[in-house]
Amino acid sequence: MKNLVSIILCLSPILGHAQNRDTFDPRVTELWDPKPKQVTAMPLLLAAPSDAILLFNGKDLSEWTSGDGSPAQWEVKDGAMTVVKGKGDIKTKRLFGDVQLHLEWRTPVVIESEGQGRGNSGVFLQERYELQVLDSYENTTYSNGQAGSIYKQHIPLVNATGKPGEWQSYDIIYTAPRFGDSGRLVTPAYMTVLHNGVVIQNHAAIWGPTEFKGVPLYLAHSKGSIKLQDHGNPVSYRNIWLREL
Ligand code: MG
Repeated sequence: MKNLVSIILCLSPILGHAQNRDTFDPRVTELWDPKPKQVTAMPLLLAAPSDAILLFNGKDLSEWTSGDGSPAQWEVKDGAMTVVKGKGDIKTKRLFGDVQLHLEWRTPVVIESEGQGRGNSGVFLQERYELQVLDSYENTTYSNGQAGSIYKQHIPLVNATGKPGEWQSYDIIYTAPRFGDSGRLVTPAYMTVLHNGVVIQNHAAIWGPTEFKGVPLYLAHSKGSIKLQDHGNPVSYRNIWLREL
């Protein structure tokens, strides 16, 4: 597996430059097998420790903006914030590198659509690397696109998704990529993730920024926001905090 990661990381600049994302068939980067085993688990509803930065206090979006820097326009109600279709992704005003990030999320209790159209959102580390949020409770899609996948890269070790309408937790330990001279990649980003207290990504080496079409390609960057995705479904978030590492 380590060799495969090395090969992909070495080839991605070549493949990345050679590909035409406009004409790339997105199905090529879908992996449908293996299907992670469903496990039943309870969310970790963790209070922020004393050294955490609180990114959502349940009352306002003062720590957030829209993608273009204008005020964030998601709905805030009953201690949660919810995607408002068409209002776009939101991202933190503050920029981060290595972090421990906790957040709680909930997909709609009313099931509409299927596959990628059901409770889709996502948590992007440094605005680039997506940990997928999806209603993957008895909902089939490609395995590297289900809840807990590092989208189109790493399939979760198990499917710890709870029922629609129930609060779920992600606890993420994220190491930012390191770049050297001329933007050369020295070490990739890494993600370890607990979904409802269960390890679903164990120090997974990220191949590059999340791509719907085509092969990921690292480009040097500095610190970045935490970004939450508007994928058109009313997914809610609450209790978002992080610790800088
Ligand atoms: Mg998504």
